[in-house]
Amino acid sequence: MRLNKRDIVEWLTTKDKRKLNKLWNTANAVREKYVGDEVHFRGIIEISNYCVRHCLYCGIRGERRDIHRYHMTDRAIKSCIRKIEKFGYGTVVIQAGESPRIIPNDISELVRWIKQNTSLAITLSLGEQPYEVLKEWKGQGADRYLLKIETTDKKLLEKIHPGEPFGSRKENISRLKQLGYEVGSGIMIGIPGQTYTSVAKDILWFKRMDIDMIGIGPFIPHPDTPLATYRFAPRNQIPGDELTVNKAIALTRIKCKEANMPATTALASINLASGRENALFHGANVVMPNVTPIKYRKYYEIYPSKACIRETADLCSTCMTNRMKRVGRKIGTGVGARQHSTKRQ
Ligand code: SAH
Repeated sequence: MRLNKRDIVEWLTTKDKRKLNKLWNTANAVREKYVGDEVHFRGIIEISNYCVRHCLYCGIRGERRDIHRYHMTDRAIKSCIRKIEKFGYGTVVIQAGESPRIIPNDISELVRWIKQNTSLAITLSLGEQPYEVLKEWKGQGADRYLLKIETTDKKLLEKIHPGEPFGSRKENISRLKQLGYEVGSGIMIGIPGQTYTSVAKDILWFKRMDIDMIGIGPFIPHPDTPLATYRFAPRNQIPGDELTVNKAIALTRIKCKEANMPATTALASINLASGRENALFHGANVVMPNVTPIKYRKYYEIYPSKACIRETADLCSTCMTNRMKRVGRKIGTGVGARQHSTKRQ
């Protein structure tokens, strides 16, 4: 399927059901051919909600003085990791806000411990970090790093990340590639001021950068952030509804055939009944069950009505496994690393 910028915009705007069926079928076939029927599970631990950043969309941004902040102890984190092993997930994702409480040495030790005591792949998602720190973590055994670009539109990116020099996220992503991480990135869809063309360019950027893992989710306005009341809708504003997000996932799958693509929690949050499952039939092949202890979950409310906020790790594991089986997908085995066709041949 030919997909230049104009084609992508056309797909993103079309309402023609027959045409869309062709898109869904193509994405699903590409997904099946290149990454198979297995759905890989990544257990995510939200280790800290302290943050010094000002991201306009985020519910745990530094400006929010009214929320309880927590930082999990090493012991608590390790106990979650043991659970991830018990559930049979192949990967642990360690995520947090950006703050001085994330001490590089502590993360190094944790990474080392995970490598020595488990066979899990390690994904870190700790925001932007200096080259030396990323290098040290890689050296200790971190396999992957997740840093969403959110949008590649220069003006919009500057607006939603005040105080952050433009280019620093992109630079961080290039650094991660240079260091040999499997690199995860992604975008939100429906950010006020984001256009169809801008998302088309994001998809072409994933391809150009050969991003290994691509997470695409809807922007969900958080009432206690500046974007809650922000009303700026240009004529070609892209909506953050489930259909549009699934179109972006499908188009990305067709472009970036071997990438790992999660059915995001944000998608599950706008459609609790089947948001995740639907995405798995539009190109996605990964789910990220939450393993954060229940007492902390409500404080990691990056957007409102986040799915699974009241469920324990055990419940999430059973629920997610059942959901995958119900829709006829296999549970992934191994760590679910990025595929490379040259290796597959
Ligand atoms: N501090 C880390 C982790 C951020 S939270 C970092 O900056 O990389 C993980 C992701 O949640 C973000 O990258 C963003 O894509 C998503 N997110 C945050 N606020 C959101 C909102 N209001 N709606 C939808 N997704 C949001």
